[in-house]
Amino acid sequence: MAREADVVIVGAGPGGLMAAWKAAENGVSVLVLDKKSKIGEPVHCAEGTFLLSLEIFGLHEGPWIANRYEGIVLNITGKRPIRVDAKKIEPVCLDRMALEQEIARRAREAGAEIRTGAMVTGLDDGTLMLHTGESLRPKVIIGADGVESYIGRWAGLIDPLELKDLGSAAQYVMEGGGWDTRFMDTYLGFDIAPGGYAWAFPRSDGQANVGLIVQPNKARASELLEKFLSSKYPGARPIRRTGGCVPAGPPLKRTVKDNILLVGDAARQAFPLSGGGIHAALFSGAVAGKAAAASAEANDPTLLGVYEETWRKCYLKALMRNYLLKERTYGSQKGLMRTARMLRAGAAILNLIPFNPLNMWWGKFGKYV
Ligand SMILES: Cc1cc2nc3c(=O)[nH]c(=O)nc-3n(C[C@H](O)[C@H](O)[C@H](O)COP(=O)(O)OP(=O)(O)OC[C@H]3O[C@@H](n4cnc5c(N)ncnc54)[C@H](O)[C@@H]3O)c2cc1C
Repeated sequence: MAREADVVIVGAGPGGLMAAWKAAENGVSVLVLDKKSKIGEPVHCAEGTFLLSLEIFGLHEGPWIANRYEGIVLNITGKRPIRVDAKKIEPVCLDRMALEQEIARRAREAGAEIRTGAMVTGLDDGTLMLHTGESLRPKVIIGADGVESYIGRWAGLIDPLELKDLGSAAQYVMEGGGWDTRFMDTYLGFDIAPGGYAWAFPRSDGQANVGLIVQPNKARASELLEKFLSSKYPGARPIRRTGGCVPAGPPLKRTVKDNILLVGDAARQAFPLSGGGIHAALFSGAVAGKAAAASAEANDPTLLGVYEETWRKCYLKALMRNYLLKERTYGSQKGLMRTARMLRAGAAILNLIPFNPLNMWWGKFGKYV
């Protein structure tokens, strides 16, 4: 059996790294295992988020902020583009590799060990098996292993998602598209992305993440992306191709079992309408890391229940509403138009109020992390 750690985290994405930082900061020994060879690479993400979700961790300034936007443009097939002034909610584009490397640096500084090239191949009655033949029996296991989460499956916490509750995305990092770097561009329409939407998120260096997400039972993301690019950005040059899946189903009933907890995409905490899961992964990772440290220190798995209670208190209603909105929006052209009108009305209200409304929600999260 390999060296023991109090808390073992499977997956070094935003959720797992944040959990490692917060668990180590709370005084227990932490080991993170990831099958990839380098932290932060490859980036399978459009890298859009809101500044406030980073601010509660003191991560709102640094080279990982690749662009700050003034607004979002909603392009709906057959309609005039709607330009939403969104400065107040501070949307940003990340350099996600730089962000993950920074969280990893903070986790290591707090004492965590992070091993790359380490694939977990099994879980048997609390013992983790690695591809090297090693086994580990920690006090707490955090499954931060993404949308497919084998930790979740082995623990009996998740079943494979139905295709309608999965988002399948394809994306290029591009240059030369003449994007207005002040705006995030989004495209809605059944002709463009059935069961999803397309985007162009420019960075201040002139490159942009351009991609689309669809329901895999309705269309193939990679084929539609080529069509989308040739019609909207014919002059842009691709630099790198990427893609992947996001969970877009209803929230899980349970994310904790015995000494195992799930965070981020493994716990299906991404927002179904947009596929955005970075902020939930960071937040749930932090809460899980703290709960894991308290549980390991006291040798009491029941203390992991704090994680379940806290993330549900903060996110459950919003995730459930977002799931229902996704179902209504992507079900028909009528639903799409209704959501577009709602977003436009929301934007008008946003312009009237003198503060960042996300503060009323995320602003309260600081006390849990
Ligand atoms: C194309 C695309 C675009 C996206 N754009 C956005 C966006 O703009 N904004 C946003 O908020 N969200 C976006 N998302 C979603 C976002 O990327 C996820 O919600 C987020 O990465 C979840 O973080 P996580 O830590 O839970 O999981 P992940 O980032 O998926 O990390 C899981 C880690 O687990 C590791 N792993 C898996 N299995 C094992 C194993 N058996 N052994 C060891 N390691 C293992 C993987 O190597 C990986 O590093 C996008 C997703 C895709 C696919």
